[in-house]
Amino acid sequence: MIPPPFEYARPATVSDAIALLQKHGEDAKVLSGGQSLIPMLKLRLARPAWLIDINAVPGLAGIHEEGGYLKIGGLVREADLEVSELIRTRYPIIHETARVIADPLVRNLATAGGNLAHGDPANDHPATMLALGAQVLATGPGGVTTIPIDSFFVSIFTTALQPAEILTEIQIPIPPPLSGGAYFKLERKVGDFATAAVAAQVTVDSKGTCLRAGIGLTNVGPTPLRARNAEESLRGKQLDNATIGQAARLAADESQPSSDLRGPAEYKRGLVKELTRRALARALERARG
Ligand SMILES: Cc1cc2nc3c(=O)[nH]c(=O)nc-3n(C[C@H](O)[C@H](O)[C@H](O)COP(=O)(O)OP(=O)(O)OC[C@H]3O[C@@H](n4cnc5c(N)ncnc54)[C@H](O)[C@@H]3O)c2cc1C
Repeated sequence: MIPPPFEYARPATVSDAIALLQKHGEDAKVLSGGQSLIPMLKLRLARPAWLIDINAVPGLAGIHEEGGYLKIGGLVREADLEVSELIRTRYPIIHETARVIADPLVRNLATAGGNLAHGDPANDHPATMLALGAQVLATGPGGVTTIPIDSFFVSIFTTALQPAEILTEIQIPIPPPLSGGAYFKLERKVGDFATAAVAAQVTVDSKGTCLRAGIGLTNVGPTPLRARNAEESLRGKQLDNATIGQAARLAADESQPSSDLRGPAEYKRGLVKELTRRALARALERARG
């Protein structure tokens, strides 16, 4: 299918991009990897008059640790995350998330920033960023705003980004020692969106007591969800089969799946329970080194 006609701009700086977004308002959309936006255009689910392509903007493609954060630039591709030594060795949860997104062709173009900005509850990075307690930098006419990930996903396909704002960076607090995370996804076939998926990140002390747990859920609600009751149930406890099992049950209760082509709601709730159990067990294994 061919998209409807649109005007195209390729600004060379963030401020030029913002000026164009301001000028064209609701008629304009940021274009990053185009792996969600172009299909939406082809299906006539979006009809922006202007595409503001930010791919020529320098300085948005870095992955590095600085000032207590892992910083992922707004234009970092899934393929960059897959091959990054820093991500593979220090943030296996992000590596695991990136490599189960779509297929290699999509991952060569799709950006982690676009994955969040699209606001699709079926996308994989949101749950991981919720589990990690990330924050997002939004650059707009008024400067840079920091948006905690917990307030970023507003409703289906809607985020806290304003129309003239660009997601320029994702920041993840560098986890303290004895931390680990994992992402478990069930998909009908390789390259599909999740039937359900779970991200878990834990920090324990030297005696194995849980200091922090983050649990994010993919495609089981109108927005990416954080399983707060499940997280809370783990804090201050030894992470053993019983406490992990209880957290998995709570996460399933907190999920809000609907029945669709990927399966009935009850099946998805069962998946959340099992994937939470597996993700927490793997996260704990990694926290213990
Ligand atoms: C066949 C196929 C399978 C897929 N499977 C999966 C999957 O299994 N898991 C998964 O998570 N995703 C999947 N995707 C989606 C893919 O990961 C998308 O690329 C991603 O969701 C959006 O990233 P993008 O860079 O392509 O954004 P684009 O398509 O360019 O943009 C998407 C939306 O976000 C906005 N946007 C993008 N970047 C910014 C920014 N920096 N600042 C402000 N707004 C911005 C755009 O205006 C647009 O509204 C799949 C896509 C395809 C085509």
